[in-house]
Amino acid sequence: MCYAIPGKITGLKNKIAIVDYFGEKRRVLNEFENVRKGDYVYAQGGIIVYKIPKKEAIEILKLWKDRFFELKKIDKNLSQLDGEIKVRNNILEILQKVNLQKELSKRELLDLLELKDQASLKLLYQTANNIRQKEHGNACCVHGIIEFSNYCRNNCLYCGIRNDRLIDRYRMREEEIIRIAKYAVRKLRFKALVLQSGEDYWYDEKKLIKIVREIRKLNVLIFLSIGIRSESLYSKLYRAGAKAILLRFETSNKKIFSKLRPKTSFEERVSLIRSLKKMGYIIATGFLIGLPGEKNNDIINNILLTKKLNADMYSFGPFIPTKGTPLENLAPVSQDVVLKTIAISRITDRKSKILVTSALETLGKEARKNGLLSGANSLMINLTPSYYKKLYELYPGRPDRDKNLLENIKETIELLFSLGRAPIDLGI
Ligand code: SAH
Ligand code: SF4
Repeated sequence: MCYAIPGKITGLKNKIAIVDYFGEKRRVLNEFENVRKGDYVYAQGGIIVYKIPKKEAIEILKLWKDRFFELKKIDKNLSQLDGEIKVRNNILEILQKVNLQKELSKRELLDLLELKDQASLKLLYQTANNIRQKEHGNACCVHGIIEFSNYCRNNCLYCGIRNDRLIDRYRMREEEIIRIAKYAVRKLRFKALVLQSGEDYWYDEKKLIKIVREIRKLNVLIFLSIGIRSESLYSKLYRAGAKAILLRFETSNKKIFSKLRPKTSFEERVSLIRSLKKMGYIIATGFLIGLPGEKNNDIINNILLTKKLNADMYSFGPFIPTKGTPLENLAPVSQDVVLKTIAISRITDRKSKILVTSALETLGKEARKNGLLSGANSLMINLTPSYYKKLYELYPGRPDRDKNLLENIKETIELLFSLGRAPIDLGI
């Protein structure tokens, strides 16, 4: 986005660069051959995506300087722990253990997930937000998402674009996807884009490589979220310029997985996530919260599996029932269950990014803000043109469904500034 901050390379060894942002130093991966010490760059998700001319960088940094420190101050104030909150002794002991950076047992994680009283919840969220601030500062990545096809060969019982559901289907042509990406990068200055679709094999190797190659030329981090494809295709797409993947394992409970995702395999999905990580992709993965049959124990297992998979970014959200699907009559979980899951994920994995998903936003007006104050530090903005967006209904009630894109960006930036967050991505 136009708000991204360029950094100056102050060190470079092999593929690791040290990038300085107003005195704050971050390690990032550099895959460009022409990047040298003293150059200015944009980094996203821990990777340098663009070398920016010095003159331009200095002008942008001038505009940012005062605001950068102002925002940091607001964030620091908002993420202090309130010493006055009274909670049960055993909860206090667990949270003290967290503050000493000791690993919690599964029982202790479950105790946190079972919290109900407002005082304990407040302290849990504050603790997680405090860790986020210490580990990540006030940086918040804002990615754009383009939902390019709602065709899907699968029939996941929870999903609004499952093959059996009677809906109007669309597929964007390659040129159209590239055009939207160009607008997002050149006009709106997004630095990371997620390309998402149902599992639509109409997009073969040739089409996907063309899309990735053209979009990569824009100097942007590309996330693919296209479901199960062969490792060899993913490897070609990596070489073509896609560097990140968004692929949730959905649930760590194999029985629930096979019931809700007929004819697909848990082992295949998890093993693909592992292989993609090995290939070098940045991995965003996670799960749905509140699937039928799931217990609190499953939520904790989901968090632990996300960590075990070495996720660079956690992406999870509430399951929202959709009319015309087999799960239409179920009720979604409460906002607090999702916020607790964010906070426990942050406590369990201090270093990863955690996304506030749009499904969480459907649970209440303040949900996005609450997510950011419970340990999350990442957001997505939907760039899909409105006539397609209405048809890409994984679940109903998306708050951005009828919102104009520029208005949505403005609101997002205002929210981030009010929380002292800088809509940038400072690196690993
Ligand atoms: N087809 C790809 C990407 C599109 S689906 C894939 O399955 O990976 C993206 C995500 O939407 C899924 O991972 C799932 O977790 C989420 N989703 C689907 N239906 C949902 C629902 N009813 N409520 C909340 N999230 C849902
Ligand atoms: Fe298809 Fe993904 Fe929906 Fe499953 S969750 S039906 S794979 S779009």
